[in-house]
Amino acid sequence: MGSVLAQVRNVLVDMDGVLYRGLTALPGAAEFIAFLQERGLGYLLVTNNSTLTPEQFSTRLARMGMSVDPEHIYPSSVATANYLAAHAPRGTRVFVVGEQALVDALQARGFVMGGRESQYVVAGWDKTLTYDKLVTATLAIRDGATFIGTNPDKTYPLEHDIVPGAGSIQAAITAATDVEPLVIGKPGTPALLGALELLGAAQKDTAILGDRLDTDILGGARAGIHTIMVLTGISTEAEALASDTPPELIYADLPALLTDWRRILLA
Ligand SMILES: [Mg+2]
Repeated sequence: MGSVLAQVRNVLVDMDGVLYRGLTALPGAAEFIAFLQERGLGYLLVTNNSTLTPEQFSTRLARMGMSVDPEHIYPSSVATANYLAAHAPRGTRVFVVGEQALVDALQARGFVMGGRESQYVVAGWDKTLTYDKLVTATLAIRDGATFIGTNPDKTYPLEHDIVPGAGSIQAAITAATDVEPLVIGKPGTPALLGALELLGAAQKDTAILGDRLDTDILGGARAGIHTIMVLTGISTEAEALASDTPPELIYADLPALLTDWRRILLA
């Protein structure tokens, strides 16, 4: 168990199900963040959620007792903007099906919000989705625009309900165009590889810490980094052990991970 943690110098930390559930911090979350900071480990909080800006996530974390600068928060909106910036010049027109945080991230990298004439269609979770937006996205893609998805999550769990997420909106556009999106967020690799680049981190000494086999752990395996799972979110230990891509390490929760990590560092 120990050899992986002894190698890890950088951590990509999933948020929902790892640091908090809903608006409540999970046990050990603030202590874990402080551990990363005190130890000088490289870290980014990575999330598929494209509807909040890094500043808004930072504020939300602060209310739960976690002190994290916006620069250490890497939502799929920012990952998408960074991916596009590596593939298209500033001034390129983009049609966005998504929320203001996604528009902000794209505009910050010099992209211009366009309509049917756009070279890219970027689709994320959009709680003000309209038929008109689906029409414009469809026509732009039929005219040759590249179709990008911020993250593939088909649903999003609210406190009492499960509602359509970004993947469901992308599926509607795919149904109308027969074009599948290039997906940036987990288990797509562009977001994770972009995070490594931002940290200046090598794959061999970087780990992803997450709660979901189908996003965090699969994405981490595809990106060639170490994988650590905690059992405070979606996936169970039985599912992890039966998986084709099981995590390298499994911990009940953050306090168990911290105990092990501290022990290894002292050894
Ligand atoms: Mg999660």
